[in-house]
Amino acid sequence: MSNLSAEAVRLDTADPLAPVRDRFVLPDGVVYLDGNSLGALPVGVAERLERAVRAEWGAHLIRAWETDEWWCYPTRVGDRIGRLIGAAPGQTIVGESTSVQFFNALVAAARLRPGRDVIVSDATHFPTDRYLVASAARLLGLRVVETRPNELAEAVSRFGASIAVVALGAVDFRTGELWDLGELTRTAHAVDAIALWDLCHAVGALPLRVDADAVDLAVGCTYKYLCGGPGAPAFLYVAQRHQPDFDQPLTGWLGHIAPFDLDPVYRPAAGMDRARIGTPHMLSLIALDAALDVFDTVDLSAVRDKSLALSAFFLRCVSDYLDTGILRLTTPGSDARRGNQLTLRHPQAYPIVTALIERGVIGDMRAPDIMRFGFNGLYLSFAEVRLAAATLREVIESRSYLDPRFRTRRFIT
Ligand SMILES: *Cc1c(COP(=O)(O)O)cnc(C)c1O
Repeated sequence: MSNLSAEAVRLDTADPLAPVRDRFVLPDGVVYLDGNSLGALPVGVAERLERAVRAEWGAHLIRAWETDEWWCYPTRVGDRIGRLIGAAPGQTIVGESTSVQFFNALVAAARLRPGRDVIVSDATHFPTDRYLVASAARLLGLRVVETRPNELAEAVSRFGASIAVVALGAVDFRTGELWDLGELTRTAHAVDAIALWDLCHAVGALPLRVDADAVDLAVGCTYKYLCGGPGAPAFLYVAQRHQPDFDQPLTGWLGHIAPFDLDPVYRPAAGMDRARIGTPHMLSLIALDAALDVFDTVDLSAVRDKSLALSAFFLRCVSDYLDTGILRLTTPGSDARRGNQLTLRHPQAYPIVTALIERGVIGDMRAPDIMRFGFNGLYLSFAEVRLAAATLREVIESRSYLDPRFRTRRFIT
């Protein structure tokens, strides 16, 4: 056994989170390094869904909104996520997709700062955020200034009090770079701008403290590190101090103070209930609620520590490839500056990732030359990480990725 294999065994034996893996359903023969795109299936979710369909929908029908408390899910599940992002109860709600919530929050943020005409937006934002910033700016007649988070201070001193909103992503989806939420929020607040964070690649991956960091608004996905299931609804955080003035553009009937009065005029509900939009996606919400049970039993900082240890171990397993430049690491090396994902560059990223997937090592790629590997401390072992690295080495060394069948680009990558 090589040194690294022996070390993997040692690390797994000493891993206090090793038993958590049994709380996930994972197929045999697969090393799953794509939990940053779609988290694995937690044990119990399928049974909970079966019950929701048969006993709640099937038997209780419309009564389930009350008898099974469906009505309360958006705010109750919201508070469960709130706990994971450092938000006191009553500030987080679940519903719609991240794209919808981002747009909704962005316009509401601009309305909190009337008369200001600049949206500062992360130049490295995920495309959906960029497209929606552009659309919101057109709709509201605002200007967009794109900046990298590390250059925010410059943009703030240049545009000053004309900035209504600063919209940033906590973790760069390409490089895995992690930003300091507290520091950047303070920078935005220096000119009294609203800080809107996209937490998609951070929530469930690392401890967050949105209240302590004085974040104004935040949105995020629940199907990545939170393992809520494909298309699981997103969350929105609105700091208590902004709730009375939170004026969302998507004034659906469920955000009304008395939705069943069928009032011809919209009057927002008090508190987070005003952030409701339309009828919740109940089955997805129930799946997410069941998935979150895993997080009741673990300490997020322990998960984070293990994820960092897993990714550091992966880097050691390919260190000679990094030294010789066969692979290039674009994720920052220091723990404080990276999320739970490693990004490696190789000109043949696409066929290499495709060949890895055929061998059961599932990561993903992003155009043009990026390979992304997510390290979820909830369900990955050090032995799997070693196997993934060994498989990557084998694919590169053998040049088996050159096989034409790995080169046809699929629509979804
Ligand atoms: C995954 C992701 C999204 C996805 O938005 P959807 O509306 O769920 O498709 C948005 N923003 C970021 C930063 C993401 O990583």
